[in-house]
Amino acid sequence: MRVDLHCHTRHSDGELDAPDLLALAVERGVELLAITDHDSLGAHDELAGQSFGQLQLLSGIELSTSWRGRGVHIVGLNVDTDNSALRAGIAAQQQARQLRAEIIDTKLAKLGFADTLAGARHYAANGFIGRPHFAAELVARGAVKDTASAFKKYLGAGKAGDIKEQWADLASVIEWITAAGGVAVLAHPDKYQLTRTKLVELLGDFTAAGGRAMEVVSGNQTAASSRQLAQLCRQFDLLASSGSDYHGPSLPWASLGNQAPLPGGLTPVWAQF
Ligand code: AMP
Ligand code: MN
Ligand code: MN
Ligand code: MN
Repeated sequence: MRVDLHCHTRHSDGELDAPDLLALAVERGVELLAITDHDSLGAHDELAGQSFGQLQLLSGIELSTSWRGRGVHIVGLNVDTDNSALRAGIAAQQQARQLRAEIIDTKLAKLGFADTLAGARHYAANGFIGRPHFAAELVARGAVKDTASAFKKYLGAGKAGDIKEQWADLASVIEWITAAGGVAVLAHPDKYQLTRTKLVELLGDFTAAGGRAMEVVSGNQTAASSRQLAQLCRQFDLLASSGSDYHGPSLPWASLGNQAPLPGGLTPVWAQF
């Protein structure tokens, strides 16, 4: 079965509008798709009530959290999009995002780039402002040659624009997802550059808070990395998820619905959807 349980639209930092992403997924033969925009259910609101032939659309979201001072992403799958606890959480995250955008603006101004927020707003559709929109503004100004350099110099982990303290904590986010009847999934565990010891601590806190699955296969991850994550997935008795983290045709992410198969001996999270 072709599944993709992690991807983005213009409701967050993806390049495609939700209907175009859906059309691409149908063209690729995806049978089960979860759109997981950052801190937004906008795509699901937009597509509500529609059907897509062979493709089953699962509700989803990717929530930003702060775990021991680090930014960690939690995907919620098959959530009740009307749940009030989840909606209240999303509203708080969106407010935090606006506040954070102003802080990033101030930090970048101190480095000599005045008023980048106005530019970032120009790239952000649907009112969502993320670091990729600041990156686009820095590229447009000629401050950096591309998005990757913008993250490397100014926006990525440990840099001036890496502001994550205002996100909800890990346990709260898992609670909102669980309250909405969804499955909380640890997103792309490979991307946090944690030591194995720290990753085991993260998985301990994640499962203690009610987290039930982890992305064993994500984007362009190496096979060796997937095998290591599969071992942790079994060790913590978690369900296994798989997603491309697709952001659009010109962004440097994996293509939609094209992930490598899950390593053996795992229970796919989609068996229950
Ligand atoms: P934010 O939601 O504002 O914290 O921004 C995080 C998003 O920035 C991620 O979901 C990616 O889409 C993007 N991103 C993170 N790191 C990089 C990078 N090194 N190069 C390009 N995009 C990145
Ligand atoms: Mn993103
Ligand atoms: Mn993410
Ligand atoms: Mn993502």
